[in-house]
Amino acid sequence: MIVNNSLDEVKKRENAFSIIKDIVKNKGRESLFDLTGLSGGFIASPSEIDLLETYVGPAIFEEELQKVGIEHMGGEKVLPLNRTSSGILATILTLVGENTNVVHYLAELPAHPSIPRSCKLVNANYSETDVFDEFSIPENTSLVVITGSTMDHKVIDENNFKKVIEMAHENNIPVMVDDASGARLRTVVFNQPRACDLGADIAITSTDKLMPGPRGGLMAGRKDLIDEIKVKVNQFGLEAQPPAVLAMLNGIKNFDGDNLIKSFSRKDELFDLLNSNFNNFKTTPTGVMITPEGLAGELDIDHNLSNNDLAFVFSFILLKEHGIITIPPVSMPGASATIRFDLSTNDAFNLNLDSLNKKIISSFNNLKELVTNEDKCGEIVFNF
Ligand SMILES: *Cc1c(COP(=O)(O)O)cnc(C)c1O
Repeated sequence: MIVNNSLDEVKKRENAFSIIKDIVKNKGRESLFDLTGLSGGFIASPSEIDLLETYVGPAIFEEELQKVGIEHMGGEKVLPLNRTSSGILATILTLVGENTNVVHYLAELPAHPSIPRSCKLVNANYSETDVFDEFSIPENTSLVVITGSTMDHKVIDENNFKKVIEMAHENNIPVMVDDASGARLRTVVFNQPRACDLGADIAITSTDKLMPGPRGGLMAGRKDLIDEIKVKVNQFGLEAQPPAVLAMLNGIKNFDGDNLIKSFSRKDELFDLLNSNFNNFKTTPTGVMITPEGLAGELDIDHNLSNNDLAFVFSFILLKEHGIITIPPVSMPGASATIRFDLSTNDAFNLNLDSLNKKIISSFNNLKELVTNEDKCGEIVFNF
């Protein structure tokens, strides 16, 4: 095993950043292709940046974000956060009591780890399912959670979405929607309503997923709940700071749904190219992906690596050899090791799909050579 625990994940992330830095320094930013679908954009004019003082910034930008954020998310009030995970944590700290139940329905397991981790912190009983018929709300439930679109971009069925909200509200239980990518993917590509319009009490999106904003979270929903949650957010320092708030505001203003729709059609072209050499790629709404299990299935060689380790080694080869950034090398501990090639962000527009296909094949051939040498695999992930 190469990546065993959260500390290993932090270390591989540091190594990924050092590889990225070397590429930028030695070959230039144009030699990197960020296909994560997370752009971390920071759109801001010099005059806006001049206003970024501790109290002046929020006075100006948070007020405007109320209007722009509500347009994007629906609901009565929005609250900018450091990350989506921060919003999930704050909601659970506020609404979930010790020994109460939290039940979660999502289109496909697993849930984002911040949800079970936050429940554990408050000693709640957490359960999740992706089988709609098995979803039920037991006595003593304090919060119902729905994921709009999973970490691997599996989008919830709209009818199931509505039914879960209905079930929760019949029992007077609030609903929190983890709509990290879903707030755009569901609405733009699948024509679903905004979570708040479907009746969600709280919805949280990630402001760098499928939009040109910074890493951050934006919560929207019922004013009474947001006000309560905001107290916890401020008590524990989970709020977005003025620079992030400014970039969120401009990120939302510059969000262009057409880019998502274009990548929606281009992904089939890439999928067809890959299928001449691979069996286990799948399409996502805005690109293609291969799961760790799928990657393992492509290899006909004996080796001792876990499926996740294979995904880490493969994605590090893509990064080191070709400057292709996918999520596994740079992800936070516990995130999915699935390798997605997202075609919805800027770097993808400039990338020839034929050449991307060749880079993926060449990296895979490289993986085949490395896989029997565990030391070398460890070296490419950690650089020790
Ligand atoms: C990315 C993601 C999160 C977490 O976002 P952070 O900004 O990393 O906290 C939560 N849930 C889902 C479904 C996600 O895709």
